[in-house]
Amino acid sequence: MYGLTIMLDPGHGGSDPGATYEGVYEKTLNDRLTKVLADKLKAKGANVVYTRKPGQDIRLELEDRTELANRSNPDLFLSIHHDSYYQPGYSMFYSSYRPNIETSGAYFKDDNGKTHHIIREEDGKAYYNQDGKEKYIVIKTTKYRVYDATPSFAAQIKDKSKKIADKSKEKIERMQKERKEKSKTTQEEKNIQKDNNQEKKNKDHAQKEDKNKKLKNNK
Ligand SMILES: [Zn+2]
Repeated sequence: MYGLTIMLDPGHGGSDPGATYEGVYEKTLNDRLTKVLADKLKAKGANVVYTRKPGQDIRLELEDRTELANRSNPDLFLSIHHDSYYQPGYSMFYSSYRPNIETSGAYFKDDNGKTHHIIREEDGKAYYNQDGKEKYIVIKTTKYRVYDATPSFAAQIKDKSKKIADKSKEKIERMQKERKEKSKTTQEEKNIQKDNNQEKKNKDHAQKEDKNKKLKNNK
């Protein structure tokens, strides 16, 4: 990886914690993973740069991140997130110059700072609506930058990541089942113990009665 510049982009930061769960902030997890990744990449000789350094708790907007990426012009830009989802697994979004991807969420800002949503892309042109008319900007040569707030095309490795997700789901279900079985056995063991205790009590009681009877008879 010698000579390669890799830009790491830990998601969220500052007043934007990202996903939260029981006091854990996504931004903290993103920082931690970024740090681990940076060390590994550096050890392999890569030149690692950041949009914000891990531990640097500042809020960056999407435009700031894009601006930093364009300025550094890295070989690879890697955005790190720990999103919340209703089932365990991994998700990966990638863009290699947005080939044929869905444009929902993509926009650019004109000279007056007005946001225009892009309705489609074709032949290096991004089309948008203005006053009911369809207009376009040329993406590759334009001074305008196209931002994409919602990368919507899950990677080709979709199948692979689905397999991983299914596997971890299976594992979790297996663990839950095992835990249930275990607590069931402990409950059964407890019940047996209870029965034994009761038996012993009964026995003790009977022995006492016997003793009392004997004492009575001896009198
Ligand atoms: Zn996130």
